[in-house]
Amino acid sequence: EQRELGRLRTKPSRTRDNVDIALLANAESSEDVTQAHALGAHGLGLYRTEFLFLQRNELPDEQEQFETYRDAALGMSGRPVTIRTLDLGADKADRTGLTLSNEENPALGLRGVRLSLARPKVADTQLRAILRASAYGKLRILIPMVSTREEILAVRRRLAKQAELLRAEGHEVAEHIPFGAMIEVPAAAIALESFIDLVDFLSIGTNDLVQYLLAADRNNEAVGELYSPLHPAVVRLLAHILRTGQAYNIPVAVCGEIAGDPLMTRLLLALGLTEFSLHPGTLLEVRRAVRDSDLSVLQAMAPKLLQARDRRGIERWIEKAGLHR
Ligand code: PEP
Ligand code: MG
Repeated sequence: EQRELGRLRTKPSRTRDNVDIALLANAESSEDVTQAHALGAHGLGLYRTEFLFLQRNELPDEQEQFETYRDAALGMSGRPVTIRTLDLGADKADRTGLTLSNEENPALGLRGVRLSLARPKVADTQLRAILRASAYGKLRILIPMVSTREEILAVRRRLAKQAELLRAEGHEVAEHIPFGAMIEVPAAAIALESFIDLVDFLSIGTNDLVQYLLAADRNNEAVGELYSPLHPAVVRLLAHILRTGQAYNIPVAVCGEIAGDPLMTRLLLALGLTEFSLHPGTLLEVRRAVRDSDLSVLQAMAPKLLQARDRRGIERWIEKAGLHR
């Protein structure tokens, strides 16, 4: 089993009917970057920069962040590296004094891009580090927890300003850095058309999207049964996001945990997903699931998936999709 999986390291992530699927890696440490490269990931689809801010009392300065992002760019040898700006708050509380400790509903509070915009100095330091690292590879920038058009505009303004300052200081900055938003707040998913003109790519954070859509805490075992990507509302919303992306020619990835679950691979392919970002530890298993799948068969089965009325109906669809060879 392990040997068979090992052989997939050098094999393409291609369906039986010859459609190439991009498998990128999620990383939350420098070690993850090394592993992602060794496994032949097509890039980093999500670099969770929070790790630089956790388990310490001092904020990382521009130089430390720059070196970390630059090393990721270099470590992936020119493949795309998606740096997600700081996503602290909610379940990711820090010790640096950046996050609030007195929120009654931290998951609905000052987290992700909201926190960055409330701490502009911290945000600018991170943006500068990313801009400087962009001279060393194919960096992309991804904003978490977006719920309004204004948040994207605000980050883009800060980014443009810092790029101008850095160039004036003599730093090299890439000409174009693709700019993306995470879709993990239902409002952003539903109103996607109202801000899609502001982004170059999208990445669906299903861990949070499921939590917010179903009003079920992702870490609360008491509602663990309800917290499920197999709710018809989740499947329909995923389909809506993917269709909208296709209509506007904006690439859409999924970077939540479901992207790394081989049992979900065929469902996601059926909905039209062509870019997965997942923990490197699950990359080869998902590659195997992709290579076992026939996209035309799955797409023909997609209408039935969207008609499912409950979790059991979606589970039955997955079982049926698993049977085809
Ligand atoms: C997500 O919400 O699905 C996601 C990828 O981000 P995180 O798990 O870091 O919140
Ligand atoms: Mg998230």
